[in-house]
Amino acid sequence: MTRVLVVEDNPQIIRALALNLKARKYEVDTALDGATALRLAAAAPPDVVLLDLGLPDMDGIDVIRALRGWARAPILVVSARHTSMEKVQALDAGADDYVTKPFSMDELMARLRAAVRRTEEAGVGEPVTVATDDFTIDLLAKKVHRGDTDIRLTPTEWQLLEVLIRHPGRLVSQKQLLQEVWGPSYETHTNYLRVYMAQLRRKLETDPTHPRHLITEPGMGYRFEK
Ligand code: CA
Repeated sequence: MTRVLVVEDNPQIIRALALNLKARKYEVDTALDGATALRLAAAAPPDVVLLDLGLPDMDGIDVIRALRGWARAPILVVSARHTSMEKVQALDAGADDYVTKPFSMDELMARLRAAVRRTEEAGVGEPVTVATDDFTIDLLAKKVHRGDTDIRLTPTEWQLLEVLIRHPGRLVSQKQLLQEVWGPSYETHTNYLRVYMAQLRRKLETDPTHPRHLITEPGMGYRFEK
């Protein structure tokens, strides 16, 4: 089933979209603000995102940028902003298509189908497994194995790990991790990262005191190395 994440703060529009999408056999997740959208997307990666730009907590453009840090699912902007500059800004940030409000439901559904089709044709999908010398991460089953042992992760540990492995070899800032895992109001809670990274290392690294995969960049962030 194709999973659609609808990000929209207008309950009437949410209701109309959810009804229409479910009638067409899509699986629907809804978020009323940007922070919820990013959390949901990390927990259950969507196949396609419908995104309003005027959100109560953050600008939709920043939601696009945050998603594009790791997600390759097509993003369709559905917004009342209609100038070409506003459209260019959204497309430059990483949106795939743009529909202005008020929209025709049939046209929106057609564009959604087209976006999903393009992704499938391009063979673009999230990686299914990530293997290191010490452990293997199965993104589909949301499981980590070390040899024959299944390692249990808490939902928060899992989200944190997922954000890191979607940027292999790249520094992910403390701010981005806190924003994506805990939400925008937690940007300064770097102690959370220290605690959860230590837990992840204890579970995943052969020698947690000399991590080879979950690397700290002091004062900046963290990096996942295969
Ligand atoms: Ca809005």
